[in-house]
Amino acid sequence: MRHGEEMKQTPASNGEGIPKDFLCEAYLPRSKLAEFYLKLKSSSLEKVTKMLLEKKIVEIYGFQNLDLEKGEIIKGFLADISGSNEDARDIAESLKNINGVLEVKFSDNSLDGLIIDELFFPLMVGGERSFTLRVESFGAILKRLYEKFGTGAAVILYEMGLGMGESKFKSVVNKYHVDKQTAVKIILAERSAKGWCISQLEGYGKNGAVIVVRELFECLPFKNNQERPISHFFRGYLTGIFQQAYGKSVNVTEVECIAKGESFCKFIIQAVK
Ligand SMILES: [Zn+2]
Repeated sequence: MRHGEEMKQTPASNGEGIPKDFLCEAYLPRSKLAEFYLKLKSSSLEKVTKMLLEKKIVEIYGFQNLDLEKGEIIKGFLADISGSNEDARDIAESLKNINGVLEVKFSDNSLDGLIIDELFFPLMVGGERSFTLRVESFGAILKRLYEKFGTGAAVILYEMGLGMGESKFKSVVNKYHVDKQTAVKIILAERSAKGWCISQLEGYGKNGAVIVVRELFECLPFKNNQERPISHFFRGYLTGIFQQAYGKSVNVTEVECIAKGESFCKFIIQAVK
């Protein structure tokens, strides 16, 4: 197999990733918590940041999205406002009075030091409507499926993955107008950004590829307690992607797996002649 260009190393590629905990909820007993939404002209960001600092407002979780065309920023955050002697309503009023701040909303609906985001919906990831599922919950779903349907579950999961992989490949090619190998790289890089796993393309040739995957959500719930590799969903997903990339049938085999005690999962992709 010809070895292609390696994926660029990301900070997370060493397997010691930096967690990304996005705005959802915060629990800080004995603190005064609040949530804010701001829409502002990007030129006003400095004034907003300065005011928050002056009022000793500490952002706990947040995000900031810039709309380049409009020159507007959407900013959302959960904050500890204990350091300020104002309540959330006063703070929101002061923010509104800053020149260039177009809209402010707030919530101070916290319960015994717990505040849950209630200003933002839906959850968008990369501009696409998404929802989250805990790895542990997905593990429980898998365990139940295997218990009830045995090898039938493996087939169902493989087929689910296959369908997703195929449509993902088509959508990436349509969206970014890239060649097939680049599309594969984008999809694998996105798996990390979306929390699936950290995957690395170890080799890419005309008739096959090798992918090393760390922390795969599908195998993590079975870590160290299987005799055989356990991935069927992700194996199907890779099959779907590479069948699209190669324009022919491929076989994907998981040859190493964290479920049987190895430190990563490894997939061999072979095009069928
Ligand atoms: Zn595995």
